[in-house]
Amino acid sequence: MLVLVINSGSSSLKFQVRDVASHSILTEGLIEKIGMGNGGEGDGEIEGPRDHAEALEQVDAAIHEVLGDRKLDAVGHRVVHGGERFGEPVLIDNEITRAIERLNPLAPLHNPANVLGIRAIARKWPDMPQVAVFDTAFHRTLPEQAWRYAVPDSLYTNHGIRRYGFHGTSHEYVTHQAAALLDLPVEEFDGVIAHLGNGASVTALRGGKSVDTSMGFTPLEGLVMGTRSGDLDPSILVFLGRTGWSTEDIDSLLNRESGLRGLAGNNDMRSVVEASEAGDSRAATALAVASYRLAKYIGGYHVAVGGAKALVFTAGIGENSHQFRTLVGEKLGALGIELDAGLNSERSKEARVISTAASLIPVLVVPTDEERAIAEATAAVVNSSGRSLT
Ligand code: ADP
Repeated sequence: MLVLVINSGSSSLKFQVRDVASHSILTEGLIEKIGMGNGGEGDGEIEGPRDHAEALEQVDAAIHEVLGDRKLDAVGHRVVHGGERFGEPVLIDNEITRAIERLNPLAPLHNPANVLGIRAIARKWPDMPQVAVFDTAFHRTLPEQAWRYAVPDSLYTNHGIRRYGFHGTSHEYVTHQAAALLDLPVEEFDGVIAHLGNGASVTALRGGKSVDTSMGFTPLEGLVMGTRSGDLDPSILVFLGRTGWSTEDIDSLLNRESGLRGLAGNNDMRSVVEASEAGDSRAATALAVASYRLAKYIGGYHVAVGGAKALVFTAGIGENSHQFRTLVGEKLGALGIELDAGLNSERSKEARVISTAASLIPVLVVPTDEERAIAEATAAVVNSSGRSLT
């Protein structure tokens, strides 16, 4: 089955065409500056498609060049917020599209863009099966003790203010890969997975299910990220508000100017590590704060899962930065965790163990592949729906 995987942002659209059976990527691309251009007409000063429909025309042209006469069988969308309703990938129809739209207030930057992508495809290819794969869905198993904030119930009932968690597609995919590497049925996988990319979150898995995760109501809570602060005392926001900061200023401060960028002046882990190695004390502090925060979460989640059978690193930093893994590993001696310096520094694209034989908990590096997971989920939903393929 050929699946077009779409990750639609407010001004960008990432796409990949996957052959699900062979796990291969036939083509992929990124369309940027959607809504900022004039479609190349007129004076042509500004590039970029006018809207998501026009972006889709560009995707179609790019795909056609590669596929020729082969036809797409389905489209899988990464949808950021599934709220409390969606715990599984679903076949999209008008009602589902409206339900995703109703979740817009919970993910104002992301869900509207997802809906634009879905509608653009429904107009262009009316018979194409479309599947929504939700970033929050894997965390629908969080127990109430983990998803509740200690605030009056009306905030939850009237506004849906609770912890949802994100990166679910990645955490679920990596859970299965890690269990397989350890030769465990996934139902017996108790562990901690650290997804460390530009956005970062850590999840506690019990019996292969998410029982706690560091991102909350939005993807801002939890770890120190590229440009996001992660956890902080909420009174800081009140303080800034009283000092005259607008909500937009505070939003931008915490989501775009904090994290590694705020501490070290750079949001790219490679640059921060290089700067620290060259003696930059701000970069060293950023790494210390980020690795300490993660180590604390790992300790807490070891308790949450009743004793982790594995600690797993994934995503850009988790898969590639042996320096950052070392900083985290050396703070986990109390758990009996011991990284093997040689295995840790080896470069590889394979899932692997990087701890010593004496380590009480094995530490793994497992590459994530969200597009593959979305393509496979899409194929599974379409096959089980009994829809005839186009
Ligand atoms: P996104 O959340 O955008 O998908 P990624 O998973 O691609 O992010 O991760 C981006 C982060 O991974 C950046 O901080 C980048 O510096 C880091 N990274 C990527 N490659 C390497 C590498 N070889 N060594 C260290 N860090 C890396």
